[in-house]
Amino acid sequence: MHVADLPELPRRLAAADPGWNETTDVLVVGSGVAGLTAALHLREQGLHVTVVTKVNIDDGSTRWAQGGIAAVLDPLDTPAAHANDTEIAGVGLCDPAAVRVLVEEGPARVRELIRLGASFDRNPDGSLMLTREGGHRADRIVHAGGDATGAEVQRALHDAVHRDPWIRLVEHALVLDLLRAPDGRACGITLHVLGEGSEDGVGAILARAVVLATGGMGQIYASTTNPSVSTGDGVALALRAGAVVTDVEFVQFHPTSFVTSTVNSVQRPLISEALRGEGAHLVDETGKRFMVGQHELAELAPRDVVAKGIHRVLRSTGADHVYLDARHLGRDFLEQRFPTIVASTRAAGIDPATELIPVAPAAHYASGGVRTDLHGRTSIPGLYACGEVACTGVHGANRLASNSLLEGLVFARRIADDIARDLPPQADPAPTPADPGWVVSPAVRPELQRSMTRGAGVLRSADSLSATAKELARLAEQRDTPRNAAWEATNLLTVATVLVAAARTRRETRGCHWREDFPVAEDEWRGHLLHLLDRKAGLAQTFEEMA
Ligand SMILES: Cc1cc2nc3c(=O)[nH]c(=O)nc-3n(C[C@H](O)[C@H](O)[C@H](O)COP(=O)(O)OP(=O)(O)OC[C@H]3O[C@@H](n4cnc5c(N)ncnc54)[C@H](O)[C@@H]3O)c2cc1C
Repeated sequence: MHVADLPELPRRLAAADPGWNETTDVLVVGSGVAGLTAALHLREQGLHVTVVTKVNIDDGSTRWAQGGIAAVLDPLDTPAAHANDTEIAGVGLCDPAAVRVLVEEGPARVRELIRLGASFDRNPDGSLMLTREGGHRADRIVHAGGDATGAEVQRALHDAVHRDPWIRLVEHALVLDLLRAPDGRACGITLHVLGEGSEDGVGAILARAVVLATGGMGQIYASTTNPSVSTGDGVALALRAGAVVTDVEFVQFHPTSFVTSTVNSVQRPLISEALRGEGAHLVDETGKRFMVGQHELAELAPRDVVAKGIHRVLRSTGADHVYLDARHLGRDFLEQRFPTIVASTRAAGIDPATELIPVAPAAHYASGGVRTDLHGRTSIPGLYACGEVACTGVHGANRLASNSLLEGLVFARRIADDIARDLPPQADPAPTPADPGWVVSPAVRPELQRSMTRGAGVLRSADSLSATAKELARLAEQRDTPRNAAWEATNLLTVATVLVAAARTRRETRGCHWREDFPVAEDEWRGHLLHLLDRKAGLAQTFEEMA
């Protein structure tokens, strides 16, 4: 089906042809868990790898991960049990084959990470300390530094990459578009390197295969736990190149991000659900525990249920936050168990041992993305996607906690193996299309984010989505000249537009997609919405039923 009422979306970002180019075997875009793991495995295959990253190597979501990595490492646990928990969270939309790959190969990938130098928390007898998170029916979460798992994962990968002289790292470089050979195969990318001598710094890196590992898209919303680099660039690039993108309507909102004006407002600090797991309560401004009576698990109900409960309080009171009360847990316990959370609230002048913590839902994780098969292959030959940018099928309509770092580790290895099996010689790019592309003004960014939070956030309806679609169409008219902030804004607009189109079409509530006007899951919607941006026909949407 063709999607009506959509603004035209650009098919190319850079107006200028690349002013310079260089060559590598495999180009990896992004330096989080997915990109760096892929680079290290590609090196094991003897390939020359270039990793391009937008700002500094550690600026993606990976280093912010708190809870841990889910993997079957306890002899009493089984891959089948992990698969079962994953599929329950995904509400009928997980691909069972992809889930099997994730849970069966996950333990070996975590052990590899340990051999690489990652240090996880251990029991006094030296065994790995395993904990449990929401939705898991077994203790299977490995963690580091209490609640600083991502920082340790990123550090270990970063060190390993720096030890290898055959991995070239290009920082402060924004990847723009995919280059394709005359036969359609991916053969490189265009990018803008800040500080390079040429006039606008746009160049090309030619490669025999390209791996997208650009992370999430949380920055399409006004409140997100994602860092500023999470602007959906990989999904937008893939759409412009003609790749299939799917499941983008399934955005997980974390119920408890820390609301404060004194720390970074671009990225909200996360207050882990482990704090509620240890007994902290959610209260409204009168001190009432509003989740009691809404769900049998009260504050420990699934993330989407808690996010919806908070959203309803905010809508009825007009406030921008509710509170988390952790005072009864005691200063010593809080400092020892939650050092990261205590540090971030104290930095904003709030002591959780004596004061209430203001919290509200924030966009946290994109379950959908660029569609891949079990080897990370997208619909474009030679283009792979890995990590949060990809939709491998493991998350379905909602991600199970701590499965995303695992997904990056598992599929990065599969991608490297697949590339090594079948790597053609370098091809020259086909001539650049005459269409010069267009970009929107960076000034649209805050308005776009507010509109997405209002109309396509925790709760959606036909009316709210159509209002947001209209606002996005209006913002698309605000054109500008190509430069980094405008390219990013254009990516945000592209991804937001496709997400709203998907959320309007899916007339049901499933997983983390909550439609107020269609409040239950419907059998007829058990399937995926696929999106393809055609150069001539515009955005096309297809519904694919589950097998
Ligand atoms: C606060 C927080 C807590 C979390 N906790 C957990 C947890 O406990 N367990 C878990 O499993 N998951 C957790 N997650 C989710 C998990 O951290 C992410 O899904 C995962 O780290 C994504 O890894 P990635 O490599 O795909 O992307 P990222 O780590 O986000 O890396 C993306 C990279 O791509 C680069 N990039 C983006 N666009 C471009 C471009 N155009 N050009 C060049 N480079 C580009 C970025 O700069 C970055 O280096 C959490 C996420 C957040 C935000």
